[in-house]
Amino acid sequence: MLGGKKLVGLLLGLTLIFLLTLLGQQVAAQDHLAGREWDELRAASPVELTHVSQPLLEGMLRQEAEARAASCPGAEVLFNREVRSLRQANDGSFVHLELGAPAAASESVEADVVLACDGSHSLARRAIGVQMRGPPALQHFYSVHFRAPRLGSALRSRGVADSMLYFALSPKAIAVVVAHSIGGGLGGSSGSNGDGEWVAQLPFFPALQGDDPYDDAEVIRQITAAIGEPLEVSLLARRRWSMVANVADRLSVGRVYLIGDAAHQFPPAGGFGMNTGLQDAHNLCWKVAAVHHGVADPSLLRSYDAERRPVALTNASLSVHNCDPPPQRRHRSCRPIAQF
Ligand SMILES: Cc1cc2nc3c(=O)[nH]c(=O)nc-3n(C[C@H](O)[C@H](O)[C@H](O)COP(=O)(O)OP(=O)(O)OC[C@H]3O[C@@H](n4cnc5c(N)ncnc54)[C@H](O)[C@@H]3O)c2cc1C
Repeated sequence: MLGGKKLVGLLLGLTLIFLLTLLGQQVAAQDHLAGREWDELRAASPVELTHVSQPLLEGMLRQEAEARAASCPGAEVLFNREVRSLRQANDGSFVHLELGAPAAASESVEADVVLACDGSHSLARRAIGVQMRGPPALQHFYSVHFRAPRLGSALRSRGVADSMLYFALSPKAIAVVVAHSIGGGLGGSSGSNGDGEWVAQLPFFPALQGDDPYDDAEVIRQITAAIGEPLEVSLLARRRWSMVANVADRLSVGRVYLIGDAAHQFPPAGGFGMNTGLQDAHNLCWKVAAVHHGVADPSLLRSYDAERRPVALTNASLSVHNCDPPPQRRHRSCRPIAQF
């Protein structure tokens, strides 16, 4: 608790730290929460702003979903099931889903409503024939989840403040490094392996380097270069992703509704992606419940597209803007530490 507000995750404010290498020269720091507007917002909010890693948040959501399902007759939380196909009945009266599980026979389900939150490559979106609209991919990255147990203490011993986001920018390596759990009790992430976990975004350029230029060894080499000293680094996962600003041309067809990245994908600058998805779910779920319990007409569900698509379009352009703000907005609150 802080000032009566509940805290989860890693309480580190929102200072961005720019360095040549993580253990090298610090160039600048930018406190995003400095200023009166932020003070007023924080004072008005019943919760404190915290940085929560995705594994930690997903563990909490799962726990909550299972607890609620346990007290709700007929509700069940299923894991290790894949939706292999989805088809709306010709007369529009239900949706037919084929579910598969590893080494098990497939099951059929008939649903009144499907809330499809199956991510950017959404099978449901393809099945209902909805297209994504947006400019070509803006950038390409490897997202690398790694463990470096001594990185947090090494940063502290050099006087670098605890942060959620470190930018290493030098001719030898470019990496944006997110702290999942720095160590010393900050940000333990359930669902992963605890202290000293980080996630780095390493950019690459397909036109020059091909579509999949880095193997595990190269990823570790780049992270070590970004750290700037040969600390122990072990790779937990890596995957390629493309930064896009796409919004679906419709958020629903018949009884299928698209939520989250299935409906929109933004550049991560600003942290709108998951937040917009949570708002989608909030907007839709109470309406589905009201229709299900017979207290609202099914036509209420049509408001989902009208209310959420404009928000998705706005957040897409805001996220693009955050990636590349006009010159007069750059460095507004950035405090230079060194001159070059
Ligand atoms: C580097 C980076 C940083 C980010 N930072 C932030 C941030 O700070 N704040 C923020 O709000 N957002 C952030 N985002 C965006 C955020 O991660 C996404 O918007 C969010 O994870 C989308 O959630 P989702 O549930 O819609 O999709 P996903 O997280 O992609 O989840 C989809 C799920 O559906 C499952 N699935 C897919 N197909 C099927 C199928 N056929 N059957 C069964 N299951 C299926 C997948 O396995 C997966 O578990 C960031 C993204 C990136 C890349």
